[in-house]
Amino acid sequence: MKKIPSKKVTPVPPKFNMMWLWILIILGFFGLQYFFSSDNTEEITYSKFEKEILLPGDVEKLVAFKSNDLVEVEVYIKKDKLKEDRYKDVAPSPNSLLLSPEVGPQYTFTEPSDVILNEKLKNSQANLPEDQPRIEPHYENRSNPWAGWFISFMLPLLIIVAIWMLLMRRMGGGAGTGGGAIFNIGKSKAQLFDKESQINITFNDVAGLEEAKTEVMEIVDFLKNPKKYTDLGGKIPKGALLVGPPGTGKTLLAKAVAGEAQVPFFSLSGSDFVEMFVGVGASRVRDLFKQAKEKAPCIIFIDEIDAIGRARGKNSVMGGNDERENTLNQLLVEMDGFGTNLGVILLAATNRLDVLDQALLRPGRFDRQISIDKPDLIGREHIFNVHLKPLKLAEEVDAKKLSAQTPGFAGAEIANVCNEAALIAARKNKASINMQDFQDAIDRVIGGLEKKNKIISPEEKKIVAYHEAGHAIAGWFLEFADPLVKVSIVPRGVAALGYAQYLPKEQFLYTTEQLLDSMCMTMGGRVAEDITFSRISTGAQNDLERITKLAYAMTAVYGMNDKVGNVSFRDSAGETQFQKPYSDQTAELIDQEVRNLIAAVYDRTKQLLLDKQDGLIKIAEKLLEKEILFQSDLEEILGKRPFENRTAYDEFVNGGADGGGVPQTDLPLDLPQDSNNNDTKSEE
Ligand code: ADP
Ligand code: ZN
Repeated sequence: MKKIPSKKVTPVPPKFNMMWLWILIILGFFGLQYFFSSDNTEEITYSKFEKEILLPGDVEKLVAFKSNDLVEVEVYIKKDKLKEDRYKDVAPSPNSLLLSPEVGPQYTFTEPSDVILNEKLKNSQANLPEDQPRIEPHYENRSNPWAGWFISFMLPLLIIVAIWMLLMRRMGGGAGTGGGAIFNIGKSKAQLFDKESQINITFNDVAGLEEAKTEVMEIVDFLKNPKKYTDLGGKIPKGALLVGPPGTGKTLLAKAVAGEAQVPFFSLSGSDFVEMFVGVGASRVRDLFKQAKEKAPCIIFIDEIDAIGRARGKNSVMGGNDERENTLNQLLVEMDGFGTNLGVILLAATNRLDVLDQALLRPGRFDRQISIDKPDLIGREHIFNVHLKPLKLAEEVDAKKLSAQTPGFAGAEIANVCNEAALIAARKNKASINMQDFQDAIDRVIGGLEKKNKIISPEEKKIVAYHEAGHAIAGWFLEFADPLVKVSIVPRGVAALGYAQYLPKEQFLYTTEQLLDSMCMTMGGRVAEDITFSRISTGAQNDLERITKLAYAMTAVYGMNDKVGNVSFRDSAGETQFQKPYSDQTAELIDQEVRNLIAAVYDRTKQLLLDKQDGLIKIAEKLLEKEILFQSDLEEILGKRPFENRTAYDEFVNGGADGGGVPQTDLPLDLPQDSNNNDTKSEE
């Protein structure tokens, strides 16, 4: 085995650990055997047996079996007799009584053959009184006594050993190195891709992300022609961090880099460093960099780096995680340690930039941050094109239309839609996939599986229809709300009884009016139930949750409340976990203002829906009839939307796609679903 280099922090050498564990296990095993060992059995001679046990009538039973040409006889003593003093040597230990009520045998003796044994017993008992029962041996056909020994002793041992090996295997990464994997625990688990093990993902497989591609390509260029840059006195960056929400193609991009750059590529995930043994993470980091230096120029890619890169010392209240901190420290040390000219570049991916330790982000470590956002309209079209390519499509399928219907989808979700569509078409035995299959797939990705036979009573269905119609009406007649594109009351998934899909404009900033309108739209469902049935249901829980969060954000974070003023209590650094950064009076004021705001929103929505109650009823009834309504159906019933405001869909499909280049982002705060701005919502 290789020695783990140990300079400063000396990790407990794994070998030492293993040895002791082995010894402990074996000792423990013997201990158990002893503890549960069957009763004390004594060997006696026949004459003693006859005189002291057989004739006094103490024998419960005799069991005889053949063993190596002899007959071995086991003597079981009657339970009540066992308590007597003369049997105290062979009395069962309390432990064995725990294990089974069956005790014995207490004595054994051997005879040359069964004939002799029978003869002897007969003779011995000839003169017993008539009423005393005669004892006869039960002959048992026991196989090799070794088998018994094997089952009772070796088998458990083997099972334990097998389990142990399995555990060690898995901890050691299970790279197929057999039992030796235990000793590789301090080795890095990075997967190496080089000339032999080609990955065939190229930049062509990554749609959009042009800026990110240019950035990473430049890094690849550093590796290939370092002279070009160093000649001018520039320093080559050591690392780049890919930041973005899940499923936006960070891993894909890194793999493409590996495919494009013809340099070796180490790929691993942040959690690969983490292990239950102290010091293993740090030693894996050392090993990784050692390997990388040997292969330089090369690229190391660490996915989900937040697993080890979290800010240190933040949860020290909870006891912290020293092992993770050690690992991170080691990573920092290694990043400082390799010179810029060494030709090792570190790429890492995360979706939680905010939790990363500042030390990781400072220049000289991850000098560059490449942000990868959810794709915009055009980006989605490109991604659709990539994933549509291998599919058999009907003529009508249009990536443009699909991308307009999937606002807020990340690349992974688009890939999922394409795959689902293919599965749906296959289930219907179609020769090609048409637009309807894609519609179904999008619904399914948004809302979960359609529950055809989920039983909903007609009353409930009516409530759902009016609730969704309420959202739709509010969205239609509020200037700054996102117009609805589709509303469905087909039950889906576990919770969703219906849902409405909106097409937001892709934008960065939101005005007070926009937030208020979107709150009203979200409130529409509850208000519609209220004015139609004078009764409300639990269906609005999700809506109310969003409204409450948004109301608190407006009041306490965005400074949009007159009384509270232009203050923001957002704790972006997470410093004050356990106390509020404001006084109790302010807390009360905020609560009060939030209540006022929500009450005002409710009144305004109620007024609006009462004004448009005709439309509400028409939409709800139409929904009950058709279950799914599109924007065009709404237009038919309600007339054109009274605002100039065109939707992204209009803009794109009807030409003039100028907003296309703007990436879509969430509000700068983790608002739940970001009621107004985010795209697609499933609700109810
Ligand atoms: P992340 O690492 O950002 O969470 P992944 O790179 O694992 O996301 O992406 C998951 C899948 O989504 C990819 O395998 C790919 O099929 C699809 N995907 C994501 N972004 C893109 C993109 N820009 N172009 C093509 N496919 C993409
Ligand atoms: Zn709702």
